[in-house]
Amino acid sequence: MGSGTLGRYYSVLGGEARARYLSTKEAKVAVDISAPTEELWEAHANALRVESEDGAVDMLELKTELARRLHSKCEICERRCRARRSEGEAGHCGVLEARVTSEFLHTGEEPDLVPSYTVFFAGCTFECVYCQNWEISTRPRSGVVIPPLEMAQMIERRAGASGGSGLRRDRSTGARNVNWVGGDPSSNLLYILQTLRECRANIPQVWNSNMYLSEESMTLLEGVVDVYLTDFKYGNDACASSLSNAPDYLRIVARNHLLGRAHAEMMIRHLVLPGHVECCTRPVLTWIASNLKDVKVNVMAQYRPEHMARAHPDISRRLRASEYEDAIGIAEDLGLELAD
Ligand code: SF4
Repeated sequence: MGSGTLGRYYSVLGGEARARYLSTKEAKVAVDISAPTEELWEAHANALRVESEDGAVDMLELKTELARRLHSKCEICERRCRARRSEGEAGHCGVLEARVTSEFLHTGEEPDLVPSYTVFFAGCTFECVYCQNWEISTRPRSGVVIPPLEMAQMIERRAGASGGSGLRRDRSTGARNVNWVGGDPSSNLLYILQTLRECRANIPQVWNSNMYLSEESMTLLEGVVDVYLTDFKYGNDACASSLSNAPDYLRIVARNHLLGRAHAEMMIRHLVLPGHVECCTRPVLTWIASNLKDVKVNVMAQYRPEHMARAHPDISRRLRASEYEDAIGIAEDLGLELAD
C-alpha cells in the first residue's frame, strides 16, 4: 500500500510523527481566555505564525473557546444562521447538541484509511435530494448524546492507546484514524474540539465533509485535522442550488479546499451523478487538476437514486457504465492520481 500524497499521515501511523491535535494541545498561548472575541482571534492568528509562546492557555483550549463563541450565534458553516443553538434555537441544519447515530470500525473506506474509527453525526448543513445517508442527515434529533470525555475514551480504546502518555498503540488491531462524518461533521465542530481536549491517543483526525464551513471554522481546524476527506460534488452553482440547496457553492468549497490543503493532507471524493458528467464531473476534476494536482481523487460510481431523487428526472436512475467510463477518462486525461 503506497503512501501517495499522505506521507505525514503514514508517519503518524508509523509512530514517527504526532497527530496534529496533540502538538496543538501542547502549544501555549499568552492570552486571557475571557478576553473579547477579536482579541482571541488575534492571539490565535499570532500563535499560528509562531512556534510556541509562554502562556497559561493551550492552543486547543483557545480553539475550543473560539468555536464556542462561533457556535453561540452559529456561524460554523457558511449558512451563518446566527442561531443560538445552545439555547435550543435550531438553525438550518437543525443540530443543537452533537448526537452520534453510530460509531464503528469502518472497513469500507479507501484502502489508505481502513480500518477507520468512523463517528456518524445526525444532521447536515446540506439538503441533498439524493442523500445516500438521509436517515441520519435529515433527522438531527436522532442518535444519542455521548459526553466528550466518554467519546475521547472510546477513541483511545479504538486506537489501542495505553494509559500513561497515551502515545503507544497497537497497530495490529487499532483503528488507523478517527473519521468524523455525518451528515456532515461541521455542525459539531465545538463537540469535536471538546472531545480532542480530553483525548491522548496518537491517532490522525480525518475530516470527512462537504467543505461548506465558514472561513473561521476552517482556521480553527488548522492544527487539528490531519487529513481532509472531502466531497467535491458540483461544477457549478445552479446544480448545487437545485440538488443540495447550497448557495454560492463553488466559491466556498473551492476556497475551503485550498485552505485545507495549505495546512493538512487531503483526499477528494467525487460522486458521479447521472446526467452530470459535463456540468459537474468535468469542471470539478479540471479544477482539481489546476489547483490540487498532488491530491488523490476517488471518482465514485456508487450513486443510487435515494431519498427524493426520484422526483428529479435527471438523477432518478443509476449511473450508466459509459458515464463512469467517461468520468474516469476525464480524470486520466487530466493526469489525476486516482484512489485505489
Ligand atoms: S452549522 Fe451552519 S446550518 Fe447549522 S446552525 Fe450553524 S450556521 Fe446554521
